[in-house]
Amino acid sequence: MKGLINLIEEKSLGTYKENVSLKTLTTYKTGGTAKLLVFPNSVDSLKEILKYIKENNIKFKVFGNGSNILASSREYDGVIIKLTNLRNFTQKGENIEVEAGYNFALLANTLSKEGYSGLEFACGIPATVGGAVYMNAGAYLSDVSKVLEKVEFLDENLELKTLENKDLSFSYRHSIFMNKDWVILKAYFKLKKDNKDEIIALINDRKRRRIESQPLEYPSAGSVFRNPEGNYAGKLIEDSNLKGFVHGGGQISDKHANFIINKNNATAEDIKYLMDLAQSTVEKNYGIKLRVEQELFNWEK
Ligand SMILES: Cc1cc2nc3c(=O)[nH]c(=O)nc-3n(C[C@H](O)[C@H](O)[C@H](O)COP(=O)(O)OP(=O)(O)OC[C@H]3O[C@@H](n4cnc5c(N)ncnc54)[C@H](O)[C@@H]3O)c2cc1C
Repeated sequence: MKGLINLIEEKSLGTYKENVSLKTLTTYKTGGTAKLLVFPNSVDSLKEILKYIKENNIKFKVFGNGSNILASSREYDGVIIKLTNLRNFTQKGENIEVEAGYNFALLANTLSKEGYSGLEFACGIPATVGGAVYMNAGAYLSDVSKVLEKVEFLDENLELKTLENKDLSFSYRHSIFMNKDWVILKAYFKLKKDNKDEIIALINDRKRRRIESQPLEYPSAGSVFRNPEGNYAGKLIEDSNLKGFVHGGGQISDKHANFIINKNNATAEDIKYLMDLAQSTVEKNYGIKLRVEQELFNWEK
């Protein structure tokens, strides 16, 4: 790591922190320590940092807001890269160009309140633009793929590439990026000017419903499991009498059974225990294997 730190300092490629707790980088607020956290200050700096990382076989992971990640308590002997400094935003009417580090909910709220329709679904999703594109974040029967035109990214050889929506293999909570070693840099969205008052009424109503139905007062990473065809993961867990079940500092939320919350200094292993319990109990009771929507980071294989 010393070599990378020297490079960052000598060439002023960004800022960094050593031995950072993953609790501060994930919305679950769990996890061990990462050796190095880097904030590149530009796309060129990111390229130089990644070039060094790859040439020296250092492990790395790009983090957005950490709102879909359950990081284990183990030490991460690698580099976490956050694109917080890549957050340029340009708007030409209905056409939006926005860098990966931009706050996705802020983008959605700002544009919705200005009467641009298309990102209303995202007003309560605590993601970065990069993280939202990566997993095709969505809600209320909409998702990123419905409004995204194209994405700029660095491929595995650190070449700048652009792919159109149709080439990004979008499906329910899935994109091509999940199977590649690519870094998303910028997204292009196409919205539609519409009735501002109606959009504002809709997002306010959804916000109220989220507050009523989701345990937003506790750390979590949103829905734990995908909804299986024709069913709801939350209902299956609730019908299995697991709503409110506590293990260590974690709990299967008593407000929404598809959320696991960090109620009282939970470890990642407490949360994982509850995930496994919900999965095995639902499978035993209903023969349905729930699929985890969240990403397990730095767990033993
Ligand atoms: C309270 C709450 C409510 C939520 N509600 C919803 C919801 O309604 N709908 C929904 O879909 N999700 C929801 N989520 C989950 C989460 O917000 C989304 O999955 C989101 O897309 C994750 O974005 P992120 O920036 O936090 O990514 P992270 O969690 O940091 O990362 C997720 C993955 O994306 C990759 N990644 C991030 N940025 C980049 C990049 N620039 N280039 C390449 N890869 C990248 C990471 O490496 C990782 O593999 C919710 C979470 C919470 C806590």
